[in-house]
Amino acid sequence: MSNKLEELRQQLDEINGKLLELMNQRAAVVQQIGEVKKQQGVNKYDPVREQDMLNRLVQANTGPFDDGTIRHLFKQIFKASLDLQQQDQKKVLLVSRKRQTEDTVVQVGEEAVGNGSSTVIAGPCSVESEEQVRQVAHALKQQGVRLLRGGAFKPRTSPYDFQGLGEEGLKILRKVADETGLKVVSEIVNPADMELAEQYVDVIQIGARNMQNFELLKAAGSTRTPVLLKRGMSATVEEFLFAAEYIVSRGNTQVMLCERGIRTYEKWTRNTLDISAVPLIKQESHLPVFVDVTHSTGRRDIQLPVAKAALAAGADGIMLEVHPNPAVALSDSNQQIDIEQFNKFMQEMRRAGFLNQELVGADKAHL
Ligand code: PEP
Ligand code: MN
Repeated sequence: MSNKLEELRQQLDEINGKLLELMNQRAAVVQQIGEVKKQQGVNKYDPVREQDMLNRLVQANTGPFDDGTIRHLFKQIFKASLDLQQQDQKKVLLVSRKRQTEDTVVQVGEEAVGNGSSTVIAGPCSVESEEQVRQVAHALKQQGVRLLRGGAFKPRTSPYDFQGLGEEGLKILRKVADETGLKVVSEIVNPADMELAEQYVDVIQIGARNMQNFELLKAAGSTRTPVLLKRGMSATVEEFLFAAEYIVSRGNTQVMLCERGIRTYEKWTRNTLDISAVPLIKQESHLPVFVDVTHSTGRRDIQLPVAKAALAAGADGIMLEVHPNPAVALSDSNQQIDIEQFNKFMQEMRRAGFLNQELVGADKAHL
């Protein structure tokens, strides 16, 4: 009797082994089907096909399991297969290099960001007046910089600080950029302002304080305007990439990332530039990476070596704040550089071989 039981149990173990092997074989085929469906852009869940398979199984069923049990068992197998396909999709992010090996190049006017040449984004912290923006824009133009930044909506730590000129600021940026042939990079803080943004800006900036404002990320993902997403001051690299995924998964693939320093116990810099994030993100993601040398340091005296370090670490570009008269700036007065300092900065970056922006006009004659 006990020998008989042993024998039957052995048989069962063998069948279990075969079932396991067959179920995993089935799972491998399901994964292949998932790949084909992805390439064809077809929905993974196909209820008609599922019904069809169940009907055929029930027809072929000779017992002892009744039809209901067969349906139940196979439905569980189907569900596990669908989970497997979707799990694959969740595990490998769209922004990951595992999904796309080649670098994403974001075209902003004539500037191809991420194609190997280093991009510079510069301009005042806040838009204060047309004249202020114009002075900076001309300096940029002469230095061969194509992307003009300026905040019209300012997410300030204190509600009593200058909040920006709003739409008026965007109008100024657009007007001056069109006069000078530059492209506008400006921060948007409200999901409802995306249409406004599309009207005036060439790159929508999402600031550090809004990196996990998911409704804003979704709204930016629904536009087709390039986005510059800044890393939250307490965000891990993984959280940063998930934030970018929010935008890309909505269909806007034109995303650039910006490391702008994280919060640490260090007091002598405004933030701590996480330089290791640059090669790390470049390795993990195909999106272009910028380093904001102004907000990461919060001081003018080390911006030059920090900018060199950023580009040496593999950044696709740098961002910096330039103001005609930083002493009277309505925001970030202590960290913005003036036009003369900007010219020197660009000159030294070029001399050291980090930038190849061509000088335009008057400054060229001086060399
Ligand atoms: C900015 O670039 O204007 C800005 C406010 O920076 P951050 O969001 O990185 O603080
Ligand atoms: Mn600023």
